[in-house]
Amino acid sequence: MILCSNPKAQFETFRVEIQKAIEDVLESGYYVLGPRTKAFETEFAQYIGTRHAVGVGSGTEALHLALVALGVGPGDQVITTSHTAVATVAAIELAGATPVLVDIDPQTYTLDPTAIESVVTSKTKAIIPVHLYGQAADMDAILKIARSNGLKVVEDCAQCTGAVTKGLRLGSLADAGCFSFYPTKNLGALGDGGMVVCSDDTLAERLRELREYGWKDRYVSRVAGWNSRLDEMQSAILSVKLKNLDSDNQKRRLIAQFYEVALGKLEYQTPYTRKDSDHVYHLYVIRTERRDECQAFLRENGVGALIHYPVPIHQQPAYSQRLVGPKTLPNTEKAAKEILSLPIYPELQQCEIQKVVDLLTRFASTHP
Ligand SMILES: *Cc1c(COP(=O)(O)O)cnc(C)c1O
Repeated sequence: MILCSNPKAQFETFRVEIQKAIEDVLESGYYVLGPRTKAFETEFAQYIGTRHAVGVGSGTEALHLALVALGVGPGDQVITTSHTAVATVAAIELAGATPVLVDIDPQTYTLDPTAIESVVTSKTKAIIPVHLYGQAADMDAILKIARSNGLKVVEDCAQCTGAVTKGLRLGSLADAGCFSFYPTKNLGALGDGGMVVCSDDTLAERLRELREYGWKDRYVSRVAGWNSRLDEMQSAILSVKLKNLDSDNQKRRLIAQFYEVALGKLEYQTPYTRKDSDHVYHLYVIRTERRDECQAFLRENGVGALIHYPVPIHQQPAYSQRLVGPKTLPNTEKAAKEILSLPIYPELQQCEIQKVVDLLTRFASTHP
């Protein structure tokens, strides 16, 4: 089966360096928040272009911590999209706030800025744009609305690590940027991990306190915090992979180009890419009205195409009965029925890409 993403292939690429990094950690005697995490935080902040990077337990926790550190809590509302990983919305509720889900722009699958103003109330405290599939949300418009309404902006960068818009890395554009190092992400650990980046010194200090029991000095909690830390093993592995992230993302772009040339002329709607931003193709998502049939055909023939995401959050059993905000989101609901994620990862072989293209060409011709 040709997989949609393949963290094992990535491990094999960096096997020797990763095994050495792990061995070094085992020998060092530091396992959580030690010198390797500190070093990786410095490298990551430099890479993104922020003053600070704070290593945490996961992408969900990065969002949760960022919201709490920015003063978002019970009684507050946070605007984001319904077409995202459940994690984005879960993090808002973990902070004690109420998610308000709005529709997406159907071309980019990211938060539609024109949908924001009608749901802003006196309770609205923040917006979380999700740079979905590896491409920027419309940050100029979102930041403008946020500024004129006094709202915080937290970028959900779980799917866009390394992407640049107008010369700036995503994650450095707003109050805080939140990353996930889940194994399948563009910069993936071999376990869970996450990072919050920001350039405000006070905010960074709050984040460092909150991620470890609210400690200002060891064993003295200045505020009430909890435990969400990045460990030494993951930090050492991530340092190895960060050096190759730009070239890995370039490999994803070349695969996307190949797909575009072959599929763009068939019945499939291929990804739109903004002119002022690059796309790091965490996922390569096409659209077709015959999506279910197409996915079944690919799977029968050894291609593991997936759907990200089949059920919008506002229609999920855990959320549908109790959400505030618009009850129907037409662009989101239509997309959920038509999207299909094709295999894309840096180690994907040319013959495998060709096989995906051949199958999709066959599907398009035999089912006119
Ligand atoms: C993966 C992901 C998250 C959550 O990250 P975890 O590390 O799995 O907690 C949040 N938002 C988006 C858009 C994601 O893709």
